[in-house]
Amino acid sequence: MSECTHDCSTCGESCGSRQEPQSLLKEHNPNAHVGKVYGIVSGKGGVGKSMVTSQLAVTMRRRGHSVGVLDADVTGPSIPKVFGVRGPATGTEDALNPCLSSTGIEVMSVNLLLENETDPVVWRGPVISGVVQQFWTDVLWNCDYLFVDMPPGTGDVSLSVFQSIPLDGIIIVASPQELVSMVVEKAVKMAEMMDIPIVGIVENMSYITCPDCGKKLYLFGEGKTREAAARHCLPLLAQMPIDPKLAELSDAGRIEDFQGDWLASAADVLESK
Ligand code: ADP
Repeated sequence: MSECTHDCSTCGESCGSRQEPQSLLKEHNPNAHVGKVYGIVSGKGGVGKSMVTSQLAVTMRRRGHSVGVLDADVTGPSIPKVFGVRGPATGTEDALNPCLSSTGIEVMSVNLLLENETDPVVWRGPVISGVVQQFWTDVLWNCDYLFVDMPPGTGDVSLSVFQSIPLDGIIIVASPQELVSMVVEKAVKMAEMMDIPIVGIVENMSYITCPDCGKKLYLFGEGKTREAAARHCLPLLAQMPIDPKLAELSDAGRIEDFQGDWLASAADVLESK
């Protein structure tokens, strides 16, 4: 047997001092209540991940569930803005209170802690990961469903969320082009490597509805994304149109007023788990 380096991760010997790999998962605040936790991920930015996160939250809230949104997209936080929620968040020595939206959705985001919400977050990866972990460990969540708006891609903050927050599953958001080219495949593989179940895919910006005749126009071809999702054995949970009203409501901080129910089947799936 070679000399012990005390680094079991690089050694295959099963000696008496071998330590099993430790879970990096963190507990939430002991005074918090959190039911199911779902991460919303995308292969790249700008595909509507925050839009889908906020609409899922609204849909579940409308069905009578208590809901929270943890904004882990620290360098591009948009959750407080779309809900029209303003800081500063209050707290004590060891706990932070989430802010509440007009329908009672709990929100925590770095923007609720910054003095000025347009201040850039110029922190390095480990600091950002630490903040996201604190949003899990220190916030007094009281919700049946917590949605985590993840940073785009598969960088170190995403990895840290996967390792430290006990996710019940992830939902992948992709645009039609992304789905066909499977740009999201890296996110899928990352979740698989971390043993996190994939609930399914929400395709955003799938089509536009003609304002004159009501016909759905699939700009990238209908059916291709369903095929792409099936090829990768991922359920297609919903297809959301490009709707100027959505962009208008989110810019005005009134996303809770949207009328579409495109995510109803995604909500059904979450309720059945
Ligand atoms: P991401 O979180 O993936 O970076 P966002 O959710 O912030 O993307 O969306 C990017 C922009 O596109 C936002 O201005 C948002 O309001 C707009 N947007 C997203 N989805 C839609 C949609 N289905 N219809 C209209 N605008 C949308």
